[in-house]
Order: sequence, then structure tokens, then C-alpha cells
Amino acid sequence: MALTIAIDGPAASGKGTISRAVAERFGFAHLDTGLLYRATGLRTLDGTDPLSAAMSLKPEDLEADNLRTPDVAQAASRVAAIPEVRAALIDFQRAFARRAGGAVLDGRDIGTVICPEADVKLYVIAKDEVRARRRLVELLAKGHETDFETVLRDLQARDAQDSARATAPLKPAQDAILIDTTDLSIEEAVEAACAEVSKKHQI
Ligand code: C5P
Repeated sequence: MALTIAIDGPAASGKGTISRAVAERFGFAHLDTGLLYRATGLRTLDGTDPLSAAMSLKPEDLEADNLRTPDVAQAASRVAAIPEVRAALIDFQRAFARRAGGAVLDGRDIGTVICPEADVKLYVIAKDEVRARRRLVELLAKGHETDFETVLRDLQARDAQDSARATAPLKPAQDAILIDTTDLSIEEAVEAACAEVSKKHQI
């Protein structure tokens, strides 16, 4: 049974980990839509026009190994506020969502704009300090030199920018189910998400 699962939430809330696990559990394809904005943002760092960058994205651009840096995250958030950039990326995301075998998309506007008809909508949150701690651990493991205060400040600035933009701001869909991962282990968060999907998934 082909379901579309929309998983949104702020930076480092755990939505990526949950999305990958849900996709694997149910055999659905997974698209991290943040990569589209990160790949577009990365290209603009050398002066490329954001819209041309978005319109000429290729699948291999989503696999570049420098998409997870703090600079690229900020660049992604800047280009994501441009309505024409968002419009250029819609068809690809909607086609992915309609895949015959089912799809999980995670991002900021999946439940509100990209797939308002999604079968399951989850909105994943966690306290700022917990999210910053998680992101710090990831960045340090990759060899970035940073500290807790910097990561917390960057994350809050990005969430504020993503929430305040006029087009497709970060916010839960009215019918989204909230999952707060502040006090949950990864396993508990994944189980909470899978339980919601199971309610809709009849084999
Ligand atoms: O999810 P991730 O942190 O990789 O996303 C990077 C940025 O891309 C976000 O801060 C946001 O500005 C943008 N984004 C978006 N809509 C999405 C996914 C990501 O605006 N569906």
C-alpha cells in the first residue's frame, strides 16, 4: 500500500533520523528535502544566482559531502526564503511523494504545502538546548571546530528565519501529530512515529 508520509520540524529535532527509520521499516523511499535547499545554497556561495542554481540541480548534487556544514545550512535558509526557488523545487518533491511504493519526505513545509494530502503528517520538535547538543555532537564528530553557544545561536537564528518567511514558513499542519523528542531515545522516537504510520498502513 503506497502511503505518503510528511515529517516536518525545526533543525536537529530528530526528523531526519525518524524519517530514515520509518522509510526503512515500511519499505518506502525517503527524500530529505533539506538537501535540495542545501545543494542550492551551496552553489550560491560562489556567486551563482539562487534561481539558476535551483533550476539546474542534478541528483548527484544532493550527494556532495559538504552539504552538512553550518555555512551551507545558513545559505540554504537564505535561498529557501525566495519564493521562486521554492516553486522551482515543487514538482520534483511532489513526483517523489507519489512514488508507487510509498514515500517519506522530511522538511519544513511537506505537510502544509508540498503534500497537504499526505496520509500521515508528523511534526517533530525538541527543546532548543537538546537540539543544539545533538547538532554539536554531529559537527564535532565530523571535525568542525565549534562550541555549544555558537551552535545554539545558529540553530535559533535559522529557525527564526524559517518561521518568519512569507512563503511556506516552518509551522505544523493543522492535522499534524506532534512528537516531542526532548526526553525520548532514538528508539522511542522512531517507535512513536512508526505507531502513527501503522494506523494507516494495511498490508
Ligand atoms: O532540514 P535541513 O536543516 O537540512 O534544511 C536546511 C534548510 O533548508 C532549512 O533551514 C530551511 O531553510 C530549508 N528547508 C525548507 N523547506 C524544506 C526543507 C528545508 O525551507 N522542506
